Amino acid sequence: MTNFYIITIFPEAFVSYLKTSILERAQRKRIIKINLINLRDFAFDKHKTVDDRPYGGGPGMVLKIEPIFKAICSILKISHKNFPISKKVRKSKFPKTRIIVFSPRGKKLDQKTVRRLSKYNNLVLICGRYEGIDERVSKYIADEEISIGDYILSGGELPAMVLIEAVSRQLPGVLGKKESLEEIKGSYPVYTRPEVFIVGDKKLTVPRILLSGDHKKIEEWRNYHQKNI
Ligand code: SAH
Repeated sequence: MTNFYIITIFPEAFVSYLKTSILERAQRKRIIKINLINLRDFAFDKHKTVDDRPYGGGPGMVLKIEPIFKAICSILKISHKNFPISKKVRKSKFPKTRIIVFSPRGKKLDQKTVRRLSKYNNLVLICGRYEGIDERVSKYIADEEISIGDYILSGGELPAMVLIEAVSRQLPGVLGKKESLEEIKGSYPVYTRPEVFIVGDKKLTVPRILLSGDHKKIEEWRNYHQKNI
């Protein structure tokens, strides 16, 4: 089973999507487990503060290192002083765990990375908010920094969801036979009825070849238009 641990200040944002379709089924089949971790539960003061003003000034707030560190130690079930700051030591002590922090400055997520991440048993996903996360988290606490694209979102929650869905699709048993086959083949354009869809004086048609019943030709057409990911 692959365990996802999501560290976020908005755990409720995940709930409805995770109850939907393939991800719901994957959880029911115990192929994946999603653990929502409210960062505020690891705040150390009575006001449950998880953010503070940035050093050097500027607008917005920054997520603090302490609550994130505490959350991760609790996930790894180790005391604070035993946390391996060295990436090498961490890798040998927790070979099946990967700690990921989301940032627009991270390595862009692609299918190769998705396949690599699908080999871990535990994926810890740290979602930023506001102006971001104290940089010491990505420098010393996380194993890698991931971006889902060159644009700025308001938080790491959508990136976490994207990663969970992409990784889950790689796990045996998550997709049905037909869906897995598509995954192997790559992505190609598809059409369904009606054969002609009329908008004003325009006829929107389906490529002839797909209606021909010639399976060899159809296969060639799909290969030609396919994007291999
Ligand atoms: N000024 C900040 C922007 C922070 S956006 C900066 O340059 O980093 C707030 C949070 O949203 C980030 O900490 C990150 O976790 C998440 N985020 C925003 N855009 C993202 C993207 N393209 N990919 C991954 N995470 C992103």
